[in-house]
Parts: sequence; structure tokens; C-alpha cells
Amino acid sequence: MTTHGNNYIINILGASLLDRHPRTSGPAQTSDRTAPASALRSIRISSSGVFVIPFTADAVRVSAHYCDDPDVRDWVLCWGSPECALCAISHKAEQRLLLPVLDCEQGEVAVLAMSSSMRPKALAPQVFQAIAEANKRGPQIISITKPDQTSFSVSSWPIPPGVDDGRTAIDKFVQDRDQGLVKLDQIYLTLPNETLRALPQVARKLTLRGLA
Ligand SMILES: [Zn+2]
Repeated sequence: MTTHGNNYIINILGASLLDRHPRTSGPAQTSDRTAPASALRSIRISSSGVFVIPFTADAVRVSAHYCDDPDVRDWVLCWGSPECALCAISHKAEQRLLLPVLDCEQGEVAVLAMSSSMRPKALAPQVFQAIAEANKRGPQIISITKPDQTSFSVSSWPIPPGVDDGRTAIDKFVQDRDQGLVKLDQIYLTLPNETLRALPQVARKLTLRGLA
């Protein structure tokens, strides 16, 4: 029995490094009742913004690299120094906060990945402020927009009557998480160090540093 993390690696490598969304290109999904826990998606904050419903302030902190190798161009979990091939080439790992939220558009739980920055215009402090607000005033919808490349704008209001609060989807997520069927860091690639070392840009830098 492999761990869930290993299954995820197999899925990613089996499809293609560039095919990050098996949900849209894979076989049709069966109903939620019979389907095993499906892979978590990450929330993409487009220019038109996104609506989410927070239900916990428990974010998971992970260390990850944004790998810009053409075969990856995505976040990759850091193996920790000194083993990590990306750390070995002085590629800076970033601290990321992963928070599960209900994606109002999809009606399912997805992961809001945030920089750990607590600058006023950064995402995390604004989201946690909105969660504190929800704790005081009851369930809220949070709107997140990105007015420019460096800042986020967050606003929140009570869930209007008649709008699904996502309770069923949230309960299923909590159940799956408690059983270890889903993990928030699934949204990032977990690539074996050998795979990282073989990426052309990484391999070249390892060679130049005499670490190949
Ligand atoms: Zn690393």
C-alpha cells in the first residue's frame, strides 16, 4: 500500500508533467457518493476575482519552490536542505500557507495557497482578518481580487439567504482529511530528487557548482 502522496506522484508523472489537471482531461468523474476522495484543486485568482467561504483558520505551512523549468513551471515541494536539489542550486524555497476554503463557483473545497507575508496588502493577513470577522458575525463570503501584480483586495459579507453554504462539501472534505485521504499539499508537485536533478536547468546549475 503506497501512501497517498506517492499515488499523487504516480498520477502526475503517469499523465505528463504538463498535465496538471486530470479532472478536466481524465475520465468522467463518478458521483461524489461513490467516488474516492478526489484530488484537491488550488484556487486560481483570476482578474475577475473569486468568491470563497472560509470554514477554518487552520492553514498548513509548507516550504516550496516555484520551479520555472519549462517542463514544470509550477510549485514543487521542498525536500529540505541539504537533500533538495533545488536548494542545492540556491533556488530559494518559499513558505506557503495552504488554507482549505469552499470555492463558491465549484461548490467544492479547494486550497487557497498564500504567501506567508503579513504585509497589509498581502493575501494572508486580509483573509485571516475576514475569518476573524466570520467568527464574530457568522458565516461569510469572501471576495478576493488582484488589482495588480503585488497586492490583493479582500472583502467579506454574510452569506445571503438561499445561497448554499457548502456544508455538505465541507463535511466530506473534513471526513476525507481526517481519514488521511486528502492532504492540502497535494496541490503542489512532489517530484523525486532524481527527477529534479534531471531537469535541464537544474542539471546545468548542479554541473556548474560541481554538484552533478
Ligand atoms: Zn528545497
